[in-house]
Amino acid sequence: MLVVKKFGGSSVANKERIFNVARRCIEDYKAGNKVVVVLSAMGDTTDDLIAKAQDINPNPPKREMDMLLSIGEQESVALMAMAMASLGVPAISLNAWQVPMHTTSVYTASRFKSVETERIFHELDAGKIVIVTGFQGINKYDDITTLGRGGSDTTAVALAATLHADKCEIFTDVDGVYTADPRIVPEAKKLSEISYDEMLELATLGAQVLHNRSVEMAKKYGVTLVVRSSLNESEGTYVREVKNVEKMLVSGVACDKNAARIALIGVKNEPGVAFKIFDVLAKNNINVDMILQSVGRDNTKDISFTVDQTDAADALRVLKADQDRLTIQKFEDEENVAKLSIVGAGMQSNAGVAAKMFEALYDANVNIRMISTSEIRITVLINIDDVDRAMKAVHDKFIPTDD
Ligand code: ADP
Ligand code: ASP
Ligand code: MG
Repeated sequence: MLVVKKFGGSSVANKERIFNVARRCIEDYKAGNKVVVVLSAMGDTTDDLIAKAQDINPNPPKREMDMLLSIGEQESVALMAMAMASLGVPAISLNAWQVPMHTTSVYTASRFKSVETERIFHELDAGKIVIVTGFQGINKYDDITTLGRGGSDTTAVALAATLHADKCEIFTDVDGVYTADPRIVPEAKKLSEISYDEMLELATLGAQVLHNRSVEMAKKYGVTLVVRSSLNESEGTYVREVKNVEKMLVSGVACDKNAARIALIGVKNEPGVAFKIFDVLAKNNINVDMILQSVGRDNTKDISFTVDQTDAADALRVLKADQDRLTIQKFEDEENVAKLSIVGAGMQSNAGVAAKMFEALYDANVNIRMISTSEIRITVLINIDDVDRAMKAVHDKFIPTDD
């Protein structure tokens, strides 16, 4: 069997944890499997590198950010290969260059284009455990790129898909995917399985347990993922196509505290205005999420929308530069907001889910600022100070307790 095993930052945070991971991988190897390991940077290394960059230049060139951030993973794979060698098992670490793993050229938010397999198979055939840096690739300029925060999960799935692995395990500091972040909602329950579509929504809406692109790619290539703990043997959660007839009404609650709301006040109430505004944002690679337009009055209307906090300054800058053509009279910008979402495949065939969610928020005295929905999710924008309380209230309403 060929297995891909990915370990996150907390799973390799120190010497003891590195040896723990080394032993778990060696167990698989000794059972006769071919083992490919993907690692994140140790502990808070990536955060520390970002802080170092910010200290030198608050607005660092993205190419140089990737050059810097990629070293975290290079450190962990080298140390892991050394740990395995000390345990008497042949292992080799490879960075994205050495595999190689090719990506698009966008720095800090690259996507995989192709992964070469020859070198990895060669090393596996030579009887080695292969340890690959997560989170990074190389682009057509031969530069190092990174995949966005949490991207090591996507490296694991890309390798599992191209190597046709029999198993792709994502080891982390929780023992599976829960109905909500267990750090915020301690009563959250572990799911034994979840569909790709539901997991993709949860990951995109803030459940950081999996990188959203990893789920997208797993669905596309039919890779079954198992999310489990690196510290115990608990079964974990399967992410795969779920054929259950009885779809869960709500399989999870997620929040995203990285949202910002921008309001454009007094734009002209005439055709083409929304197009011009969102076209400027799109051309500047700014992703817009929720959008709300007020009813027109006195020939003007207001348009508000949400973006990632990291994009808010850019969005304001490009809109202000074009303020007259876009007919914007005034700007409002708020960062103390958060998105709260419920996700569940069963929503499609059940009326009253939204009302139930809004009732939970009303009972918790939480004001809703914006609402958006899809077939399997409802998202509300609320004040950030309310979000943990709101998440507990909504979770309580939808996820039955055992007792
Ligand atoms: P790693 O470093 O292993 O990649 P992450 O910190 O990226 O780990 O992801 C694991 C964390 O995701 C958990 O510690 C947990 O707090 C958080 N999390 C958020 N939502 C969920 C959820 N629905 N189920 C499980 N964990 C979640
Ligand atoms: N080390 C990177 C990060 O902290 C990638 C990852 O952990 O998946 O975002
Ligand atoms: Mg992660």
